Amino acid sequence: MSDLQKYQMLIGGEWVDASNGETFESMNPYTGENWASFPRGSAEDADRAVAAARKAFTTGDWPKMTATQRGHLLRKLGDLIAERAQDLAVTEVRDNGKLLAEMGMQLQYVPQWYYYFGGLADKIEGAVTPIDKPDHFHFTRHEPLGVVCAITPWNSPLLLAGWKLAPALAAGNTVVLKPSEFTSASSVEFARLFEEAGFPPGVVNVVTGYGHEIGAALTEHPGVDKITFTGGPETGRRVYQTGASQFKRVSLELGGKSPNIVFDDCDMDNAVKGAISGIFAATGQTCIAGSRLLVQESIHDEFVEKLVDMAKTAKMGDPMLMDTQVGPVTTIPQYEKILSYMDVAKGEGAEVRMGGGKADAGKYFVQPTVFTGVNNQMRIAQEEVFGPILSVIPFKDEEEALHIGNDVVYGLAAGVWTQSMRRAFTMSQQLRAGSVWVNTYRAVSYMAPFGGYKQSGLGRESGQESIKEFMQTKSVWMSYATETPNPFIMR
Ligand code: NAD
Repeated sequence: MSDLQKYQMLIGGEWVDASNGETFESMNPYTGENWASFPRGSAEDADRAVAAARKAFTTGDWPKMTATQRGHLLRKLGDLIAERAQDLAVTEVRDNGKLLAEMGMQLQYVPQWYYYFGGLADKIEGAVTPIDKPDHFHFTRHEPLGVVCAITPWNSPLLLAGWKLAPALAAGNTVVLKPSEFTSASSVEFARLFEEAGFPPGVVNVVTGYGHEIGAALTEHPGVDKITFTGGPETGRRVYQTGASQFKRVSLELGGKSPNIVFDDCDMDNAVKGAISGIFAATGQTCIAGSRLLVQESIHDEFVEKLVDMAKTAKMGDPMLMDTQVGPVTTIPQYEKILSYMDVAKGEGAEVRMGGGKADAGKYFVQPTVFTGVNNQMRIAQEEVFGPILSVIPFKDEEEALHIGNDVVYGLAAGVWTQSMRRAFTMSQQLRAGSVWVNTYRAVSYMAPFGGYKQSGLGRESGQESIKEFMQTKSVWMSYATETPNPFIMR
């Protein structure tokens, strides 16, 4: 295994191995071969990284920088990502199995988060309060929180890291980033750009290792002020509980079981494409997957037929090839989970309209799958699969569509396909989801707040308000009274 690419962690501006020297390996899901090794970070490494981040927060150049200077660094970082987009994309495809066609575009777009928050850094203004006490002056300041621990999942490492790092750094925090053990390579390669952009050592640290080891150690660390986590609901619950025990600030981006709702007045060809992009893009491994397709009864059969006709043309195979449309499943546990849910759905009486098993296009491939005859109480309609499995659920009218759409514990996203403006507005208001797309699906932007209702998470990423998730407000009082009044009475 000497041909494995060997990566290190970035702590305090130094490239280091795990303190105990241990490593773990990462697999290329298209070939099934291990291709890279990473330090298996431990609690001791969490300590080192948090200490480095704390030092950079309190001493050296970072705390002395103006917000404008921080903004310049973020913009420079964005430029460097754009320059290296192709290399980073190839690494992501190898490690994650994402399509090169998608990653090339995504990595040209990721810099926008750094540009946007770089621009926002020096526009966060406090206020002078028309305070009601005589001879007093009062103002507010928005200050950084301190050390931020950012934990990302395997499905979109660099995009999701940007959603956290850009606002956290713009606000003046320092960061310890821990990518998923399944897909650490792109985050470590990205870490090389911090020094080049001119960030002082320790402002951003990138550590690697298992969630239950260095991940847990970071969230438990008393030196961490804020945890920003994206991942599965069970891990999110644990992270939230750990954070609560120390009153840390915690924001969570968790799972989804999003309804993509098709009314009989839709533009059917567009809605078919929207349904397909909602579930088969990224092999369904996205938190915003439109995994429940709610179709109005009057067009159900015709719509499903068109959908299946188009979905059958999806080209599976090598994610490095630009014409591949569906790539492999990223991890072995996820591959097994997807296959097990196919059995669950069949056992519950759902009908396989398309797919339903393994695919022979490389090592870890499953067939894009459409189940019809699903009712919303089935597990296949309630539980997040995180794979290319679509559950089609018929409905009669708006009321029923809303009821089914909202009848899950999640509330990350929803889609509505209709040409009626009235319907578009009422549905977008009444769907309990953090993002609602009307006549489009899976659109995200650095400008648009993103986050979950209900059990899909806490807090928002992207958009102006998200920077406040990384800041705290200080209330400053100054007296210009000539005499301090009676000290035994509160003013
Ligand atoms: P996961 O919860 O297994 O892991 C996420 C991260 O948490 C990884 O870095 C992992 O190492 C770490 N981790 C695991 N155990 C930990 C612990 N005890 N303490 C601290 N960290 C720990 O999730 P995953 O399988 O990598 O990702 C898939 C999940 O992520 C899906 O549920 C998906 O919906 C969700 N997701 C949500 C969004 C969103 O923005 N809402 C985006 C992408 C993915």
